Order: sequence, then structure tokens, then C-alpha cells
Amino acid sequence: MLGCTVPTIGGLPKGFSWARKWGCECIQIYVTLSRRWDVPGLSEEEVFKFKSAWQDSPVKKVVAHVPYLVNLASPDKNLWQKSKERLRIELSRAGQFGVNFLVLHPGSYGNSNKLDGMKRTIEAIHAISNASDNQKTQILLETMAGQGTSIGSTFEEIAYILEEINNPEFIGVCFDTAHIFAAGYDIRGYKNYEMVLTEFDEIIGLNKMKAIHVNDSRANLGSRSDRHACIGEGKLGLEIFQAIMKDTRFLTIPKILEIPERGKRSEDNLRLLRKLQLISGHLPKSKNLQKQLIRKELYVNIS
Ligand SMILES: [Zn+2]
Repeated sequence: MLGCTVPTIGGLPKGFSWARKWGCECIQIYVTLSRRWDVPGLSEEEVFKFKSAWQDSPVKKVVAHVPYLVNLASPDKNLWQKSKERLRIELSRAGQFGVNFLVLHPGSYGNSNKLDGMKRTIEAIHAISNASDNQKTQILLETMAGQGTSIGSTFEEIAYILEEINNPEFIGVCFDTAHIFAAGYDIRGYKNYEMVLTEFDEIIGLNKMKAIHVNDSRANLGSRSDRHACIGEGKLGLEIFQAIMKDTRFLTIPKILEIPERGKRSEDNLRLLRKLQLISGHLPKSKNLQKQLIRKELYVNIS
């Protein structure tokens, strides 16, 4: 199942028009205003409009992203409280809209230490899970690049949080290809892809992976820098994207493209990913041959 982050200027239902235009089977949106702490009320009419736009679209699953303002690992008591309350609102709103998954960054520990940060994240998620009656939406911890003091850049950290929360119905994982590469997992090439997935399976469990962010990375391996690139234009190479697209274990889980300039480039990047899925066998090793093969029918680089 393939899709991307869609623009929602003019209201959330507009996201489904982009999905139709770009042929997305899944989309990612924010269900609140992502840069603001205040969250305006939601009317029944808005919910109705969202659901009917969804029904009239090719979208099977909707993923929501928790705003970056939220930091559940923060040592600042006030920010931690606000973040917890916002996560509660995000989850409740996602439930009203019938959203399937809510992607969450595990947080940054700031001037404290990593273990205390992880404990605060766990405590906040625990509190939310006990208070929530939303049966529809599953929270997904995103694998992170490891920028600054962020947690969740190793499979062990993600596994630790999941084990402590111990509620597999309530929480799973969103695997971000650009982030794990920047975090130091080399997923370039078919063999490495399998090795990294085997490691993920041993430490976290592949059954916990509920969504994938398919992004190339402008940042180098192990740079701990979070810089997404268009598919085939970063450091990852095309092999991993072909492997993911063809991987029968992930056919039914949302694969979401999150690239810069999404308005201009989403359509051709989605087309490239679909094309990679159709190519049988491995891609040729030569970058030039790869480019020719990709360009041949469907893919035209419009940049
Ligand atoms: Zn991501």
C-alpha cells in the first residue's frame, strides 16, 4: 500500500483530492494545526465531511503524524505536561476521524539523560493508553535519525519503550528508511536490507512494524542528521526501495513518502516507486543503467 504526505490547505478533506490525483492508497496528514499549541474545536460536520471525502477516495488507510511540538521525553515539567495533553487530544481526534495510525517521535531528553527521557516517554504513553477509549487508532513510534538528544535511533531503544508499555494493540513502530540510515544502519543494497530487517526482527519484531516512511537521505550513513531526499536522489540507492516495494511481508502496510517539495515531486516519486515494484529481478549495478531503466517508460525527472 503506497501513498504520501498530502497537502491539506483548504481543510483536511482536501487531502483526499490529492490522493486521488496521485493515486495514493494511503495518506499521511496532521489532524490538528501542527505548529500551534491551541487546538480549535471540531464540529460533527467537519468529521462528516472528512469521512465522506475518504469514502469517495482510493485511500484505504490514513496515517496521522503528531506535531513536532510534542516532546514526551522533555525534562521540562511544563512542556512534558503540555505534550502529554496534546497527545491525548491527537489520539482522540484521530479516533473521531477513524484514522488508523498515529505516528509519534519518541522525544528528546534535553539536558537530562537518555534513560530518564525514555522513562518520561513511557510514563506519558502509559497514562494516555489508560485514559483512551479510542479502539481504532494505533500509536506508532517512529525510528529516529538520532539528531541532538532525540531517543529512538536504535532498535534497542524502541524495543525498550515497547516492552515497558507492553500493550501491542495500542502501540507499534513506523520504520523510516532515511532516519535509520542516518542513525547508522546501512540499508544500501539487497543484502544489507535483509540484514537490517533481520536485526529489527530480532530486537523489536517485524510484526510490530505497522507503517514505513519511504524516504531517501541527503545525510550520510551515521551522520545522525535528519534530511530527507527524493527517491534516487540521496545516499540510499534504488535497491532498497525496490526491495521494500516488492517485499511481500509489507504489501498491506502503509508506505508513506515524505519528501521535500511534496507538491511538485510527490507524483513522480510515487510513480518511480511503483515502477520499481514492477521490475522483476535485481536492478543493474551501474547507476547509469539504473537511470535508463527507470526513465525508459514511466519516470520523467521534472526537476
Ligand atoms: Zn518519517
